[in-house]
Amino acid sequence: MLPSPAPWLTLRPEGLYCAPADLFIDPQRVVERAVITHAHSDHARPGHRHVLASPETLLLMRARLGARAGGSPQALGWGEAITLGGVRLSLAPAGHVLGSAQVVLEYAGRRVVISGDYKRAADPTCAGFVPIACDAFVTEATFGLPVFRFPPAAQEVARLLDSLALFPERTHVLGCYSLGKSQRVIALLREAGWDRPIFVHGALGGICAVYEACGVTLGPLRPANEARTVELAGAIVLAPPGSGTEGWAGRLTDPVLALASGWMATRRHAKARGVELPLVISDHADWSELTGTIAETGAAEVWVTHGREDALIHAASQRGVRARALRAASG
Ligand SMILES: [Zn+2]
Ligand SMILES: [Zn+2]
Repeated sequence: MLPSPAPWLTLRPEGLYCAPADLFIDPQRVVERAVITHAHSDHARPGHRHVLASPETLLLMRARLGARAGGSPQALGWGEAITLGGVRLSLAPAGHVLGSAQVVLEYAGRRVVISGDYKRAADPTCAGFVPIACDAFVTEATFGLPVFRFPPAAQEVARLLDSLALFPERTHVLGCYSLGKSQRVIALLREAGWDRPIFVHGALGGICAVYEACGVTLGPLRPANEARTVELAGAIVLAPPGSGTEGWAGRLTDPVLALASGWMATRRHAKARGVELPLVISDHADWSELTGTIAETGAAEVWVTHGREDALIHAASQRGVRARALRAASG
């Protein structure tokens, strides 16, 4: 058997499996019972028979997947717990996107926390990460290299506004993921005083509506494909990365192409994507957040998944933590 965070929590082809509770966390294949950390498509796959998640995640899954969001949705709010097969299960905020949760499992005197995707930086659009003391911590490592140190997001949004002041006639097309990043950028723009309508790609509309329904105020939003070209002069348009050549975008003369991503922290990535204005805004933990969080949980064991495992395993090991990669190939 592969090494695992606990004898009762193992990696199967479908995903991380808790045998006594008979459930999978963020399974990659259709299963009977799934616990979903958040609504990003690589975690929230369609078609599971039972889906347990935070209420916000269930709403986002419904908005993105419709009837394919899965059967018998079960919402678990912060501070609530259920017991399944003797396993106590609760969710704690992960600070990644609206509704994003860490999964806390307690069984046989041992507590394991599965972080899902997370960040520690403040985000006005979702509940902040809550560190949970545990025996074993399963952490993501998307940006698990010391080179990744993210500046405050407000500082990056200020750079976008500086560019608009400098080029008041040019449309600023900002590439950002439709779930989470877009709403965070919109909220930061509002905090910075940008009160004009913000134009959004069609992929964003339904997700923004869920955020609004959950009490996140985003201000005036307009569909980009209905905008007249003259309205887009000096305006901000948000669109998923790579969607910039269709419809309205083809009508723009000399747009400023910006991209909000943690990958923009390395010049190579910005250059490769032809981005004029790279904004280093990430919804993942950077290197210092990853290492700091591992220390904060007090976990004697850390399991690293989703990304650059090696450097983080090395850093944790140097601090006396038993760290390993959690993936099928590691065994
Ligand atoms: Zn995510
Ligand atoms: Zn992810």
